[in-house]
Amino acid sequence: INYNDLEPYYAEVEKFNQVSGPTFFPWGAYHGPYPKRSHYRACMHETFRRGCEALGIPSTVGPMFILSSATKDRPGCTYRGFCKFGCMPKSKSSTLVTYVPHALKYGAKIIPNAMVVRLNVGKDGTVRSVTYLSEGNEREQEGDTFIVSAYSIETPRLLLNSKSEQFPEGIANSSGMVGKNLMVHSADFVIGKYEEMIRQYRGPQGLALTQEWYTRKPGDGFVRGYTIETETLQPIEFSQALIKGKGVWGRQLIEDMRDYNHYVSFGIVGECLPSENSTVTLTVEALAARTADYIIDAKQRFEL
Ligand code: SF4
Repeated sequence: INYNDLEPYYAEVEKFNQVSGPTFFPWGAYHGPYPKRSHYRACMHETFRRGCEALGIPSTVGPMFILSSATKDRPGCTYRGFCKFGCMPKSKSSTLVTYVPHALKYGAKIIPNAMVVRLNVGKDGTVRSVTYLSEGNEREQEGDTFIVSAYSIETPRLLLNSKSEQFPEGIANSSGMVGKNLMVHSADFVIGKYEEMIRQYRGPQGLALTQEWYTRKPGDGFVRGYTIETETLQPIEFSQALIKGKGVWGRQLIEDMRDYNHYVSFGIVGECLPSENSTVTLTVEALAARTADYIIDAKQRFEL
């Protein structure tokens, strides 16, 4: 599967969720026009643009799953910057505010507070039902179609946990690769202080970016590329950054926090390389393997 195979589905999702985006993107193929206009560069995002311009680095406002203006059932972004903690106006698109209401309208039934723990296969080898936990009880739900879509950790966990006689290594795991080579993204950040008031909390997070180092060029000296973007740190997160980064605490931390509005935070979003060591395994099996190692170790040490 390559990007071209996936692109029509991305486009469909972008349309349904009314993604906002720029009219021009300086790197790679342009995937717009987007359903909604791009967001305004508020405060820190404008500072980022000015900095890039001064250094001769192209920058832009990225496409966002956040409404830049109202739709018939959701308002546009209010630029208060609480995106990571739950967007009260529901301007930030998510399954909860887009697909779930849509599905309910078409007769879907949601079983809240339920967690699927196993997929059960029938004699013909296809999935027939799921076992889920609800209020401490195990229940079963049959169905015709099952969509396993639970992120790169929960999805392999569920597949591996669905062992049966037909599938002793779990479902979809004939290659033994389920859970292997987990690739998440790195997310380091730097903070900087300005004389002027910046108010980094204003506007959607991660709005302004540069992908000048995203694609690798000969002589770069690193493998794979990265994006640099504005990465809002709300006050509590920011205080943690000061504690970790500057080692300040107590009275000094309070003093430094008084300057919160003068700081910017920029994130560096990179890509993890595939590695056999980045693997999702079931805790029970991991513990069993570790216990076996301990036993071998103990036997060797004590020459048992
Ligand atoms: S800034 Fe973030 S939290 Fe606030 S309305 Fe916009 S998307 Fe929602």
